[in-house]
Amino acid sequence: MNDTRRSRRYMQGAAALFMLVIGARHLMPDSNSTAGGFDAFCPFGAVESAWSFLTTGEMLRTTNALNITMFVAVIAVSVFAGRAFCGWMCPMGALQDGSAWLASRITGGKGRKKGFLPLRVPEKLDKFLRYFKYLLLIWIILESVNAVYPPVHEFCPVRATYGFAWYSPLLVLVFIGFIGSSMLVERFSCKYICPLGAILGIFNRIAPLRPIVNKGSCVDCGNCTRHCPMGIPDVPDQLNSAECTRCLECLESCGRKNTMLLWLGKTKSVEQ
Ligand code: SF4
Ligand code: SF4
Repeated sequence: MNDTRRSRRYMQGAAALFMLVIGARHLMPDSNSTAGGFDAFCPFGAVESAWSFLTTGEMLRTTNALNITMFVAVIAVSVFAGRAFCGWMCPMGALQDGSAWLASRITGGKGRKKGFLPLRVPEKLDKFLRYFKYLLLIWIILESVNAVYPPVHEFCPVRATYGFAWYSPLLVLVFIGFIGSSMLVERFSCKYICPLGAILGIFNRIAPLRPIVNKGSCVDCGNCTRHCPMGIPDVPDQLNSAECTRCLECLESCGRKNTMLLWLGKTKSVEQ
């Protein structure tokens, strides 16, 4: 494993561990906190509470000022590095990558060779399904206007996973569905479901830290496209796509020296 991938795995592991500790803390017998304390760590809670906060000065139940702090921190990362939060820091991203790795291993994958699973969704269907996360985001914002609790509260996959919410059959089903879908299709939730990812993708167009391709050196071998966990078609021409999570797997998979580079600045591509 090279340095970039190792660093990413460490960061993802740390994020997952952090959320496990937060979730476990609320199971302690002497804890006087409630599920609300857990929800307060979610950056998306700020979006769900935005209408209430702006119109009444009150956050929705189970959320508080920490949600706003988390959201601002995630936006700050995105302004600088696009959707890198999804690729490097999101505990649900870590879970999806772990599930995809497991699915690949048990269906014949090893090292860089992929197994039968996860599957690649046909391009037309994939393109169509990717709109769903934007529709979900709009629905949540509309629903939040008259809400008392955050609209996602009852079926939030983060609560289902790291909140140890086994008391809720719905959340157990959400957890099973999340793991199953991540094993079937790599980064299923990031591609089709996650409304936070839908927001963060906007910053890929303006963030200065980005992968770029040296067109003069690229031989169109397609390696980067084949290894992109987000299934972006034609990676060398789509590096500003809102779907890119800045995971840098494309850089790792390109066998040609100085062809894919991590760049700080406005240039989209370089020729040498
Ligand atoms: S284009 Fe590259 S950085 Fe973006 S998601 Fe695909 S592999 Fe990751
Ligand atoms: S892997 Fe490298 S050489 Fe191959 S298409 Fe991608 S950028 Fe070009």
